[in-house]
Formats: sequence, C-alpha cells, structure tokens
Amino acid sequence: MILSQLQLPDSLNYVGVFLTLECNLGCSYCINDPEQTGQRGALFPIKVKQQRNSLTPAEWVKALNRIPYRLDLPITLQGGEPMLYWKGRGLGMILSETPHYFDLLTNFALKPEVFASNLNGQQAKLQRDAPYPSIRISYHADEMNRTWHGDGFTELVNRCTALADHGFKVSPSKAESDVGIYMVAHPQNRVTTEMEAVYAGRVPFETKEFLGVDEGVLHGHYLYPFSTDLIASGIHPQTLSCECRTTELLLDPLGFVWGCHYYLYQSWVEGGPVRQFEALEAQGFRFSEWGVKIFKGHKLVPVGHILDPEFSMADLEVFRSCYHYGRCIGCDTKVKNNRFQSYYDKGIAHTSVNIRNIQMPESLFDKIDNLEQARQFFKPSAS
Ligand code: SF4
Ligand code: SF4
Repeated sequence: MILSQLQLPDSLNYVGVFLTLECNLGCSYCINDPEQTGQRGALFPIKVKQQRNSLTPAEWVKALNRIPYRLDLPITLQGGEPMLYWKGRGLGMILSETPHYFDLLTNFALKPEVFASNLNGQQAKLQRDAPYPSIRISYHADEMNRTWHGDGFTELVNRCTALADHGFKVSPSKAESDVGIYMVAHPQNRVTTEMEAVYAGRVPFETKEFLGVDEGVLHGHYLYPFSTDLIASGIHPQTLSCECRTTELLLDPLGFVWGCHYYLYQSWVEGGPVRQFEALEAQGFRFSEWGVKIFKGHKLVPVGHILDPEFSMADLEVFRSCYHYGRCIGCDTKVKNNRFQSYYDKGIAHTSVNIRNIQMPESLFDKIDNLEQARQFFKPSAS
C-alpha cells in the first residue's frame, strides 16, 4: 500500500532519522545515553541481534516518501553511526529511491572508498546547496585515537579530503564544502596546534557546544530551568511533571515517532520497542488504533509510527503530559535558532520542544536565575 503524503506545518524545524543506535565508538559523553555515564557500549551492544531492531531500507523508502520534498528541509540521517546501517549498504538503498536531500551526521566509520561505493552513485543527494556541509563528521579524540593508532585526527581529515576523489566537493570554506568536521567542546577536548596544522587549508573544522553536566558544572544555555540538570546536578530528588510538545519529526530505528530525544534514547536504553514493533507490524502498523493497547503499562510511549496510514503531523502538535522533566536532553531545551535564524535575527529564542505547566516546587524558586521570565512556563497556557 502506498501511504498518503504528510502535510508539513511551517513550524516543523527538523526531520531526524535515527537509522541505527549501534555505533563503532563509545564516547563517554554520548547523548544516546541520557545519563552520559560512559556506558554506551553496554547500553547499545553492536553484536546483540536476537530481534529485529531496524526498519529495512524498503520500509524506510516507503516511510520517507510520505514526506514532501522540500529543498530547505533536508532529512538528517543520524544515530548511533548511520554509515553502519544495513551492513553499510542501507544509505545508498534509501537515497536511490527517495527524492530528498539528506544531511548525514557520522563519525566516518567506513573508509571513503567503501562509503562512496555504498552510495550507489547517489552523491548528489548529500550535496544540498547550503551555508554549511551536508556531511557533518564528528571528531571524538579519545575514541578515534584508540581506533586509529593514536592519530585519529589525521586519519579523519585524510578520509574527508579523500571524498574529493568520489564526487564530493571538499574545501576549507564551509559554504563550499560537502563535508566538515565538528568537535564537541567538552572540557576534556582541546583544539591543538597540531590539529590546526592538519586541517588548515583542507577541510572546515568547528567546535560545537557541549551540552550537559561535567564535574558539577552545567554547560549550555537552556530556556527551561533545570530541564537537563535537575537530577544530574542533584537539585531535586525526582523529576517533575509538565506538558510538552515537539517541533521536530524524530524517527527511531524502527520507525516510531517520538516526542523528544529523551523518550527516544531512553526507550532504547531499556531495550528498544522491539516487541511492541512486532505487535504493531501484525496490525499493519496502525498505531493510532492499536498504540494505546500495545504500549499499555509503559512509561515511554511514542507519538505514532511513520508507517501508520493514519499518522498525521497534527499528532505532533498536541501537548502531552510528561513526568520526566529534569532529565530532558540538552538539544531539546537549549536556546537556539530555528531554520529561519530566529534567535540571531530577531532575538526570538527557539527550542526543539515547547513546555508548559511545569510543576516547579516553590522551594526551588530562589535558585532560578530569571524567575519572572520562567514563571510563564509554570502555567498551563504557556507555549
Ligand atoms: S560517535 Fe557519536 S553516537 Fe557514537 S559513541 Fe560517539 S557520540 Fe555517541
Ligand atoms: S519535558 Fe523533557 S523529557 Fe518530557 S517530553 Fe519534554 S523534552 Fe522530553
């Protein structure tokens, strides 16, 4: 059955497809683990596959063809490590059968020639005309030095520049380059003069803000007080209740649609909704009809399933009760631009989620920096 096209609201800011949560690396600060405790390898063991844990490329094609093509709204493929999806060959299979432009967030797990060959000649789908590279490679010093014989950064830059031999534009200017390297500005990560000498004149390199708590210090700027560090910083003993909705379409490896990154990641830390997927598949993926029954008794319930013929983007516009406020993932509640550069141009703060009716204990009020501004989020009508 061909599924109907989705009507994308203007407010939709991001489409993220987590092709797999498996990864070849195990970074201590990986946000796939909401606790950021360095246990990633144990949480998402790459070799354990008793049950089906991802959609097939053909299913992704069916799912992503529901999304209308829009030049200004690429589909971002991420994970885990998306190059590893479907034994490395899944990316090319999806790109070949869908009209979209894609962004790729990757650690460059495969050699350039293997990655390029797996693309089935679909390089153009990763070459959107944008002010920044479509292929964004993350550099993780400890893990890459461990994997690549102590010189991870040189290997990574060499892999990037080698893409020029496989149909990609590689330039030190980020507006000109299809590929760029990004490093999380974690306090333990440093940009050294040796690194500058390696990337200069070859490939764009930037740092990006570290979001989370390190040695008792919260990093990042968040709209909602204590949303990411209530528990991690020991501010309060339990999470709070609130109402929340997202501005993003977040799809997990099995095609479930989630209301935020915490729900998505935590459901996979707890094993992933693999049994619920089997039950839903048996019902033709009709989540709107069967979701409540199939997820009965579960704390982490998705918003829908992308293969449900009745799934509609309006399902994302509903405020839903949440009892996990305080464990939110930084990328959901940090202040940032939307895709129209709202924060830089107009001073309008954008966050990936809108939260209201936070049941903030009065005992915490004196710890809130801008209490008068924050009070609007404690009311049922704030958005
Ligand atoms: S490469 Fe990315 S997904 Fe993999 S462990 Fe590191 S931060 Fe996590
Ligand atoms: S309040 Fe936080 S944990 Fe709850 S749905 Fe919103 S972003 Fe997710």
